[in-house]
Amino acid sequence: MSALVLDGKALAQKTEEELSARVAKLKEKSGGQTPILATILVGDDPASATYVKMKGNACRRIGMDSLQVELPASTTTEELLAKIGELNENPNVHGILLQHPVPAQIDERACFDAIDLDKDVDGVTCLGFGRMAMGEEAYGCATPKGIMRLLEAYEVELEGKHAVVVGRSPILGKPMAAMLLNANATVTICHSRTRDLADHIRRADIVVGAVGRPEFIKAEWIKDGAVVVDAGYHPGGVGDIELAPLVDRVAAYTPVPGGVGPMTINTLIYQSVDSGERKIG
Ligand code: NAP
Repeated sequence: MSALVLDGKALAQKTEEELSARVAKLKEKSGGQTPILATILVGDDPASATYVKMKGNACRRIGMDSLQVELPASTTTEELLAKIGELNENPNVHGILLQHPVPAQIDERACFDAIDLDKDVDGVTCLGFGRMAMGEEAYGCATPKGIMRLLEAYEVELEGKHAVVVGRSPILGKPMAAMLLNANATVTICHSRTRDLADHIRRADIVVGAVGRPEFIKAEWIKDGAVVVDAGYHPGGVGDIELAPLVDRVAAYTPVPGGVGPMTINTLIYQSVDSGERKIG
């Protein structure tokens, strides 16, 4: 059996073309206004700086603007809250991204939750999570929402399927499980205290790997014909799931790289364009 490749890179490129057209239309209608995503980078972690740069580049590719805020590593919670408050008040800012992780002295949850719901285009606030989980309107958390968009684009059936999500972080595992549940999957969430992880995974029609450990989920735990979604990316180009032995016996899988990764940034700009259209349009 040759598996369907859930090609996030291709879908992100195609979506960027659609987003460019929407931004151009908005500009034309509004006398030159574009959606603006404010990105906040605190400290000088090189990986975080790279991610913020990639997000700014994605904005530029579709004709959007980004407002890049850089704060020193010594920033306090109060200083960051004040900056977020300023961006909330700025009518020209349509989305706010606070790059995670922030330095240890900062109360990250308080800062995420200070982001105005209307500008929470990365889907990181408790309020946005709660609304999403309840099936109310809210921007989805970018990585799991990107995974849902990818599964939808490839018409992967979720209803009635048993999905096993490995990982329960606030930005990935938990919202992923809620989104799959909302799509009528039967969901099991596994984490570091789960007993018999392999047995749970063996029963999965859909496996989502969101653990943060290279090839931690073994191919032999995954049943034939399953759908495999790997959110991880590690040096050497491997994800959280041992993918190579699976490509001939699963129904579909996300490649690493080029699967989930491109969909995260794509979802961020997708939701920023939505927000811009609501305010400007
Ligand atoms: P995280 O915050 O470190 O969470 C990891 C989760 O894995 C935790 O819930 C943890 O359980 C669980 N876990 C750890 N060891 C385990 C074990 N032995 N058995 C079962 N579960 C275990 O990581 P994250 O931010 O969610 O990221 C997860 C992965 O996705 C990483 O590889 C990361 O690089 C990737 N990621 C990719 C993108 C993207 O844009 N492509 C974005 C975000 C993350 P506990 O809760 O019990 O500790």
